[in-house]
Amino acid sequence: MRSTRMFVILSVAVLVGFLILTASHALQNGRRIRQFIYEHELPSIGLAVAANLDRTAAKYHRVGEELLRDGFLRDWILDGEQNEQELRAFMEETRARHNMLDASIVSDRTETYYGTDGRTLRLSPRNWERDGWYYSYRELMPESNIDAWYYPETGEIGMWVNVPIRDLDGRFLGVTGGGIDATEFSETMHSYDDHPGIVVYMARPDGQLVYATDRSLLAQPVKHLDELWDGAMIPRLQRSELGSQGVVIRPEGSRGPMLWLRYMQPWDTYLIVEHTPERLTARTWNEMLRTLLTSGLLATSLYAIALITILRARRKIAVQAAELEDKNRQLNHLAGTDMLTGLYNRLRFTELVGQELARVERTGEESSLVILDLDYFKDVNDRYGHPNGDLVLCETAEIVRDQIRKTDTLARFGGEEFSVLLPGTSAEGARQVAEKIRQAIEQHRFSGAMQDLRMTASFGIAQLAAHEGISFDSAYQEADEALYRAKRNGRNQVGHPQYVPA
Ligand code: GH3
Ligand code: MG
Ligand code: MG
Repeated sequence: MRSTRMFVILSVAVLVGFLILTASHALQNGRRIRQFIYEHELPSIGLAVAANLDRTAAKYHRVGEELLRDGFLRDWILDGEQNEQELRAFMEETRARHNMLDASIVSDRTETYYGTDGRTLRLSPRNWERDGWYYSYRELMPESNIDAWYYPETGEIGMWVNVPIRDLDGRFLGVTGGGIDATEFSETMHSYDDHPGIVVYMARPDGQLVYATDRSLLAQPVKHLDELWDGAMIPRLQRSELGSQGVVIRPEGSRGPMLWLRYMQPWDTYLIVEHTPERLTARTWNEMLRTLLTSGLLATSLYAIALITILRARRKIAVQAAELEDKNRQLNHLAGTDMLTGLYNRLRFTELVGQELARVERTGEESSLVILDLDYFKDVNDRYGHPNGDLVLCETAEIVRDQIRKTDTLARFGGEEFSVLLPGTSAEGARQVAEKIRQAIEQHRFSGAMQDLRMTASFGIAQLAAHEGISFDSAYQEADEALYRAKRNGRNQVGHPQYVPA
């Protein structure tokens, strides 16, 4: 059982050690992952998104150039905006050729808006809600400007490019623009949805969020960047205007989101890539824990199965050992038992007398040996048959047992000869016991067919005294000689010891 406990302790120790090792490994890994994200992954994701946006901008730019193609719009304005039909035909043809959603032109001289949707509008700064974009554009006069916005209903991003229309001297005549299907761009942005911990944002210079790959952010009323992180984002954003490589900001300490920022000039927006390593490590942790749990469970069940198997085998072995011991005991018992009477046999009796002799020698006490032999037993077999002879032997065993103490030892020595060991009994005491037995046998009446049978026995006695050279053989020989004298002297009597003069 001690080794079982050891086995269990060892198994648990191995499992716990495995867990600790994996956990520390994961922690170390977490720090390394964070550093890697800061140095390599975040800037490269940022630059990839920026490159994608730049490509999109180039496409929009081409659309702008198409709208200015052949100086048609310039001439049309300079000609006094005469033939609207012609204008719409040109616009519609360009829109269709370039898969634009919509196209428009604003003449600065008449402050009129013409769209492919058929609308012709008079613009006014008083209608700022609708027309503010144009007056802001005229104010800033960027070479090209791409506006991006989000449609909360469809989850789509919308984009519009604006380019100025100028006369040959470079004077501002108006602006033309087109809306382009931005699904390709949206898809690229949403490919970051699968990256745990990564969110891409586009925000206006005032910090208003235009777009985010985390749609739950856009589902709320327009967010400001300062609400997302711990404030003071505008000065940080302005730092990112410095280079095309972008700027990485990381929080102090070892937790929290890291940001990559870059100003996207054609859009007049900031591109921000947020990377929260905890979300990544949380997923890694979850996966690791799941693996650990599975393997731990597997290992534990294997241990348990092994343990149960071993314990079962042990119990089986223990049971078998007990059975074997039991069988051995039975065999031992059988080896020392006389099969007919159930008394000790000669072998066992010899052993017991040997032990008694050792005891006598140590304590100096006296003990005695009585042997008895049935008289004319051969005649019983002859008269009543062998089976009845057997019965007589069994009954004789009972008769003798009734006459001796529990502490005395009775054995069948072979044939119709019995022997009794009387511990702590003198030769005289043994003679009295023998006499008692002799009378009991003589008076016994057998049953059934052997009603007429009268049995007698002759006895020999030997003392087991502590004197030198005494052994079972010598004692037995002494008793046997006394028995022989009893037989010769007429049977049915106790033979006198040799040293007592007859
Ligand atoms: P004595 O008075 O001289 O002892 O005569 P006895 O007939 O008793 O002695 P003897 O040695 O001539 O004969 C013993 C007989 O006991 C012979 C044998 O057949 C019988 N005998 C020995 N063992 C058994 C046994 O287990 N069962 C039976 N039924 N008879 C046995
Ligand atoms: Mg006999
Ligand atoms: Mg005999």
